[in-house]
Amino acid sequence: MLDTVNDYIEAKLTHSIHTSGAKSFRGCRRRWDWLTRQLYYPRTTAKPLEFGVAFHKAMEVLYDPMLWSKPEEVVTNLAIVTFRRVCEAQYNEYKRSFPSPDLEVVEDYTERKSLGEGMIRHCVQNGRRKDIEAGYRPLLVEVAFEVPIVNPAVQDLERPWVDVLWCKCDNCWDRFCRYVNEEVGPTKLDYRRGIWTGLPVTYGGRIDCIMEGPDGRVWVVDWKTATTLATDREEFLLLDDQVSRYTWAMRYLQYDIAGFLYHELRKAANEEPEPMKVRRLGRLFSTNKQMACTAEVYEATVRENDPGAYAEGLYDDFIQYLREADNRFSARFTVYRNARELDAVGQAIWDETNDMVDPSLRIYPNPGRFNCQNCAFRQPCLEKNSGGDVFYTLSTLFDQREYHYWEKEPLSTDRKTV
Ligand code: SF4
Repeated sequence: MLDTVNDYIEAKLTHSIHTSGAKSFRGCRRRWDWLTRQLYYPRTTAKPLEFGVAFHKAMEVLYDPMLWSKPEEVVTNLAIVTFRRVCEAQYNEYKRSFPSPDLEVVEDYTERKSLGEGMIRHCVQNGRRKDIEAGYRPLLVEVAFEVPIVNPAVQDLERPWVDVLWCKCDNCWDRFCRYVNEEVGPTKLDYRRGIWTGLPVTYGGRIDCIMEGPDGRVWVVDWKTATTLATDREEFLLLDDQVSRYTWAMRYLQYDIAGFLYHELRKAANEEPEPMKVRRLGRLFSTNKQMACTAEVYEATVRENDPGAYAEGLYDDFIQYLREADNRFSARFTVYRNARELDAVGQAIWDETNDMVDPSLRIYPNPGRFNCQNCAFRQPCLEKNSGGDVFYTLSTLFDQREYHYWEKEPLSTDRKTV
């Protein structure tokens, strides 16, 4: 029975808006229409090994609320085993399709096991251990959410769904028909025009972790792996859409929300350097500036394994360079969101979503250097501009799906969309 908005959400009968779709809408309506309303997805070959997916599985173990009080070494080993299992499963899946694997994929598979293990150990020492010492505790990990978009002008806290936004677009109708055909039998078209209320519009996503801080307030946590750590992250996070909307959604779900913890992890293991085969310029260890190693680890290694050269000061310049180069392997940024900011977020979501589901919305391109240079829809866009056969281009270069990508598979927050 579909009596309440929650019934619709549980039946997955909603018009769900995600942050990526909202960004796409603001960027270019033509692209957004093809992608989120007509469901054209570019034909890409899936990467055989998804490091982010395997690493997030390991983080789920490190921050599993049931394991929070268990011995660190046990949890670390469990996380490493989980990471290896996911990598192995991905590799075996790849080998099923390609029995003679690419040398590049084999090397990647071998390297990523030690890389992942190093990163997990780093996260234990610089994340989990510090969180426990500071009095944080995880409440949930890898949590999918779907909250109705409500009119902020209606402040009925007893019945917060009282002015929910509903949508009657073709996709919602198709979805509803598929549901009722399975559940209660065929429907009639005049029902759509007359009685049907549509589907509730919701905002959905997936959160890596929800943590309670030492003062009892709640934080949304996001883990991101990156090749290099950004230096201007604070500025960007102050206005970031995902930060604002995820915290807004958690407040809707009655959490006493404090803000967002953005934890960035460099895809590199802080490993001890290996000695060179031949001593160079009096040094046994390389001074390559690309080395993935902190000044502390490097200094401890050369002090112990090349004491003569260390005492002579042959490593001093390089150790100083590593200190100054800010050779970090992770960084955590704390972003606060107060009640007023979250109210403003709710208003912006309401306004924007009303535009998105407006039946008389106009669709037009928004060309620009930054918009178009990585757009997957360049070819059909050019075709449309020149009056060519857009349908042919779309149907040969894209797959038209029945559902969005997040409805078919759990979304890794490390993965990007078009
Ligand atoms: S190429 Fe540019 S204008 Fe065309 S759909 Fe993509 S972003 Fe929009």
